[in-house]
Amino acid sequence: MSETRYIFVTGGVTSSLGKGILASSLAKLLQSRGFSVTIQKLDPYINVDPGTLNPYEHGECFVTEDGAETDLDLGHYERFLNEATSQANNVTTGRIYQSVIRKERKGDYLGKTVQIIPHITDEIKRRIKILGSKGKYDIVITEIGGTVGDIESLPYIETVRQLKWELGSKAMVIHLTLVPYLSATGELKTKPTQHSVKQLLEEGVQPDVLVLRTEYDIEQSVREKVALFCNVGLESVVQSINVPTIYDVPLKMLEEKLDLTVLKKLGLPVKDDIDLSLWNNFLTKLKNPTQTIEIGIVGKYVELHDAYKSIAESLVHAGAENRCKININWIHSEDIGNSNYKKLLSKLNGIIVAPGFGHRGMKGKILTAKYARENNIPYLGICLGMQVAVIEFARNVLKLENADSTEMSMKTPYPVIDLMEQQKGITDFGGTMRLGAYECRITDEDSKVFHAYNKHTIHERHRHRYEFNDAFRDKFEEAGMVPVGINPETELVEIIEIPKHKWFVGVQFHPEYRSTVLNPHPLFIDFVKNSLVQ
Ligand code: GLN
Repeated sequence: MSETRYIFVTGGVTSSLGKGILASSLAKLLQSRGFSVTIQKLDPYINVDPGTLNPYEHGECFVTEDGAETDLDLGHYERFLNEATSQANNVTTGRIYQSVIRKERKGDYLGKTVQIIPHITDEIKRRIKILGSKGKYDIVITEIGGTVGDIESLPYIETVRQLKWELGSKAMVIHLTLVPYLSATGELKTKPTQHSVKQLLEEGVQPDVLVLRTEYDIEQSVREKVALFCNVGLESVVQSINVPTIYDVPLKMLEEKLDLTVLKKLGLPVKDDIDLSLWNNFLTKLKNPTQTIEIGIVGKYVELHDAYKSIAESLVHAGAENRCKININWIHSEDIGNSNYKKLLSKLNGIIVAPGFGHRGMKGKILTAKYARENNIPYLGICLGMQVAVIEFARNVLKLENADSTEMSMKTPYPVIDLMEQQKGITDFGGTMRLGAYECRITDEDSKVFHAYNKHTIHERHRHRYEFNDAFRDKFEEAGMVPVGINPETELVEIIEIPKHKWFVGVQFHPEYRSTVLNPHPLFIDFVKNSLVQ
């Protein structure tokens, strides 16, 4: 195998242009041409990981197989590439400084003044090269978070400058910018792009390819202008036009020959004809639904859909698999009360109660679980959503008054959800939950989940501190809520079901982290299937 190549993706003009989708789409094309590719995200904030960030700040926290709490872009990488990422795929400024300061304390730099250049930039470099050094990847794509010109991203851009110098044609930079449309004059404007490239140049980096986000087709003359002002060839000016689904972006980039331009610049051969047949199959299913259903997502961060990104995408995958379009009804748990819950929930074909922390909105979530249970509406409770179902069942079926999770009420007489033994005594918040993939045995072949997975042993990712309290297990089983998935090592209850219900499943893990375009998640597929209008 030839030496690993490095592609850096930077962003300019505004945030939220979709660097993650661009990186994922390019990676998909290169993968479909036979190259092994991975994507990494560098985040310029000082948190060691996004695990301690409120979802309102930064969207969902994505959890990898190895238990890293990471940026939601890693979810896109996995969904597009159909390959697992790891801790090494997400690095933050906090983590960089943490390791440099640790080394300083150990005496690794003894006698030296520790500085941003070279010590911080060397550490960033090391983290970028780790992925390439394993000999596993032909190409590593590194997405630099933030927007060029931000104070926080300076050390990263400086590192890119150094690496471009070091690696020559084995490294390249793709800069993503916005070309706004001025309706008053009916024109697409390139000045912000020119300024953004200028900013990059001031920091010592000449981009090799420019990807222009646009609402309208960018005509040749405008591309020529950008090429001229920004020192790139015409084939290196690529448009990325708005599309109905993010899963169209690889095809758009293929039309623009972004993959071929990149391979040429990196001195890599065009190995295979591109094979996107499976991807296209998915798109055909996605775009030709035979019915539409209404799925409710109940949570406390629903104003920001990014907070539940992986759940929403899992529904897209499962919808396509079932040839059905899913209208997601985002329902704020605090908006659900005794007077309106029927009105809010009765139009839904299926309900998901989302993961979460803290007591805000619990009342609405419990009412939701009750409504789904009593009205035979398919229910998927994810993590807190499972715990909610357990609490509801305890209160309303087992008649255990004020049953609760000890997360919500320390004084509950019936702690049906309680802190895991391993969590007791932990005082640090960061990275201390039960995280990452664990084995789960499905114990009942007649269960809904066995039917969905069609296997006895599954592996799913976790992010929680509380668990189903085993002391109440027999009571629940007798009354008709049954644990059907168990961790073989710890005996923790991972899945509960109500066998008498049409489809009522609560999972302590997060199935949404494992759903990809080419491997839609079996639980979501089965949940949607049971929510279809017959
Ligand atoms: N707050 C709950 C716990 O820590 C659920 C967590 C979640 O939904 N991810 O157990």
